[in-house]
Amino acid sequence: MGTKSGSYWVTWADGHAKNSESVDDLAEPFKTNVKAYIKALKDAGAKVEIDTTKRSDKRAYLFHWSWKISLDKCKASDAEKMIGVDIEWDHGNDAESKKGAEEMVSGFGLAIPPRSNQAPALTSNHISGKAIDMTITWTGTIKVKNKTGVEVSVPFKANVDQNTVLHNVGATYGVKKLKNDAPHWSLTGH
Ligand SMILES: [Zn+2]
Repeated sequence: MGTKSGSYWVTWADGHAKNSESVDDLAEPFKTNVKAYIKALKDAGAKVEIDTTKRSDKRAYLFHWSWKISLDKCKASDAEKMIGVDIEWDHGNDAESKKGAEEMVSGFGLAIPPRSNQAPALTSNHISGKAIDMTITWTGTIKVKNKTGVEVSVPFKANVDQNTVLHNVGATYGVKKLKNDAPHWSLTGH
């Protein structure tokens, strides 16, 4: 017997399905790529603050199905099973199933319509350890070594998504910028 959906699972996820802020939890070769890129940025005088690296697949699973069930995008009985997460989405009646899912959506602080019309993804480069969210700051222009050791002058831009010079330096290390998500860099650029 599993445990029915509800706020229990928010607490459970905070203990058993945490996201990582450590570069060491990333997958190779991205881990080595990111370390080299961050070292080059710091050597040049930039400040690098890391937010999320590897995202928990179990956490993503709980996000995805609670969001869909709470918003009537699917029935509780449609939710897939996941090994290691013994949750019962179906309480035996629709209103109770939906209430359990709603408790999780609000407990996790998930974005719902109108803020977001998309269910939290089950797959992403964060889940496979191939993406990092980080904020890179400096003042003026710094000289960052690219992978081949050539120094590149990079002016600071408040909007990192527009800093193509920085994106190009990152790409030499195999760390590619997603251009509509400020902190997001990955192996593929997605
Ligand atoms: Zn990201």
